Amino acid sequence: MAFKIPLSFPEYSDSESRYLQQAVKSGQLTTNGAFINKFENKLSKKLRTHQAVVLNSGTSALHLALVLLGVGQGDEVICQSFTFCASANPVVYLGATPIFVDSEEETWNISPEILEDAILSRIAMGKKPKAIICVHLFGMPAKMQEIMEISEKYQIPVIEDAAEAVGSKFNGSYCGTFGKVGIFSFNGNKIITSGGGGALISGDAALIEKSKYLSTQAREDLPYYQHLEIGYNYRMTNMAAAVGLAQLERLEEMVTKRQWVNERYKELMVSLPGITFQENNHSSESNFWLTSILIDEETTGFSNDRLRVLLLKNGIETRFLWKPLHLQPIYRQAPFYGGNISESLFSKGLCLPSSVSLTFEDQEWIVGLIEKEFRKVL
Ligand SMILES: *Cc1c(COP(=O)(O)O)cnc(C)c1O
Repeated sequence: MAFKIPLSFPEYSDSESRYLQQAVKSGQLTTNGAFINKFENKLSKKLRTHQAVVLNSGTSALHLALVLLGVGQGDEVICQSFTFCASANPVVYLGATPIFVDSEEETWNISPEILEDAILSRIAMGKKPKAIICVHLFGMPAKMQEIMEISEKYQIPVIEDAAEAVGSKFNGSYCGTFGKVGIFSFNGNKIITSGGGGALISGDAALIEKSKYLSTQAREDLPYYQHLEIGYNYRMTNMAAAVGLAQLERLEEMVTKRQWVNERYKELMVSLPGITFQENNHSSESNFWLTSILIDEETTGFSNDRLRVLLLKNGIETRFLWKPLHLQPIYRQAPFYGGNISESLFSKGLCLPSSVSLTFEDQEWIVGLIEKEFRKVL
């Protein structure tokens, strides 16, 4: 079904098609070409302390990150439970086990306290986790200061899944630049897109070199094909990089516009009782990729699902928050630390349409429909 108002729709200018044409004309369509280098350089320059390798998805970036940190058969990796399945699936690709950790209420991301409990518990059981995957959900930075303190205390590297948080900042620095490795996604519905794609970022130049090598089938620099390691076909194509570069040039604009969308929702809904927002704290600056709300049914008289259906009938797409991975059938067997925070957020939450192209009138209409639902209840 085509929505009148989709959840998150990409926005293109003239540059995307211009760069794409240049890429095609250059004859370099695959994993060699000027746009790949330009995209990486532009990204690295923006991040300042970190270098980037562009890949064919955020999921492959996570997979490579785990490979680079030496995760293998039988290992354990701690992962935020409240996230998309792609945060944890690569752990399973490698024959390792994800250990899920609950969220805290302020940012909706991994709880530093429960993270430390989980680490201590696994160590007591004789197995020190090989890595910690934290996520910046819907663009909202996780509590990176506490998380990095724990990472240093126990000497366990952090992988930041910043798939949804390109352009978000924590204490003035970009999300993705705190952990040993960070990853971004440029999938079609993310804040900027290359059609499909991702990036692995790190402050460690050796890891960056190794990523380039592993993502292109681990080919030795010889006149014939010789392989000393198992590699992957994970590099971004020059065509995708052409689109990605054009989008990256407008990242600030995209972030600002999504932040406006979030501000306007908050203003329009300020007087609606029982509806709260995922909000920044003093150290975080979310890109507000998706504006997300919680509905307290006892106050509103209606559930998140009732609102979803009501808006759907009007051609407006919304989405539940991610269903916590410890509640997913595929991860029933995986250990979980925590209580019911992420479960409760999931049961109350809804992501609202948040495209850059959303107009004020669109938002007034959406909020008007929500208000009507209140009147029915009252
Ligand atoms: C989108 C997403 C990914 C995966 O990125 P792809 O580019 O789609 O492979 C990973 N983690 C999170 C949290 C995501 O939202």
